Amino acid sequence: MSEAVDPQVTGEIAEVRAAVRRARAEGLSIGCVPTMGALHAGHLSLIDECRRRSRYVVVTIFVNPTQFGPQEDFKKYPRDLKKDEGLAKERGVDCIFIPSQGEIYPEGDQTFVVVTEWTRGLCGPFRPGHFRGVTTVVAKLFLIVQPHAAVFGEKDFQQLLVIQRMVQDLHFPVGIISVPTVREPDGLAMSSRNIYLKGEQREEALNLYVSLQEAQEQVKKGDRDVKKILTEVRRKIASGPHTDLEYAEIVRPENLQPLEGITGPARLLVAARVHGVRLIDNIALAL
Ligand code: AMP
Repeated sequence: MSEAVDPQVTGEIAEVRAAVRRARAEGLSIGCVPTMGALHAGHLSLIDECRRRSRYVVVTIFVNPTQFGPQEDFKKYPRDLKKDEGLAKERGVDCIFIPSQGEIYPEGDQTFVVVTEWTRGLCGPFRPGHFRGVTTVVAKLFLIVQPHAAVFGEKDFQQLLVIQRMVQDLHFPVGIISVPTVREPDGLAMSSRNIYLKGEQREEALNLYVSLQEAQEQVKKGDRDVKKILTEVRRKIASGPHTDLEYAEIVRPENLQPLEGITGPARLLVAARVHGVRLIDNIALAL
């Protein structure tokens, strides 16, 4: 790790391009970790994985307005650039790209990237326009950084698949690497939004993970009935007095299609609002 060396920090496309061009000319492999900042241990595990696989690591920090709905938390989304820079430096990142909105979305822009089918279910109906914002910004970041590989978390499982689909469909020469969800000691999936939850609210949020674990146990014991498993998951999550369940579904992990019975690989995904904070989580239901 190049801990002692300050990463290059820039908000300009031309500068990040020049830095990457130099690294490529030296024969270095380029890795990219797109984030919205407020870095936590989940992000750091993505950065570490990127570091293991790439010689030149670019972390992007951009709170992307187009992936937030009008009623969502774009304005109050946590931001702490100084802390993020310190953490990225400790992890041996080579370049931190922190663009402005105007740098990413030029005045008068009218171009979006849309993945159709796989964005229709799960989070799709609850966050209209969200995935369009994600695929558009990730496509732009790939075209700016031009990495050999980019790392994403399984925490956002639908997002991971949607990005894999986009990369395949648009022939981006970028390898997509996925990293398992990093959790708090009690099991809560790490998220920049967890800071919105205090004390008891956090405990209620834990129902999501507990319900996933219980479902995994049921499947391990031989239960294959998706309806029955989901009834239990929904009951557990909805038992929180300040929880609004959005969805709980069991899908094929390769294409997000809903399953009726578990006969092969399956993924359970859930989303709920706990005390108004939107949380998602998912788990593999191993056979
Ligand atoms: P975000 O900053 O929330 O947009 O997330 C940036 C990247 O970090 C995405 O690829 C996320 O899936 C990933 N990520 C966020 N939280 C976690 C976590 N708890 N474990 C693993 N990856 C995560």
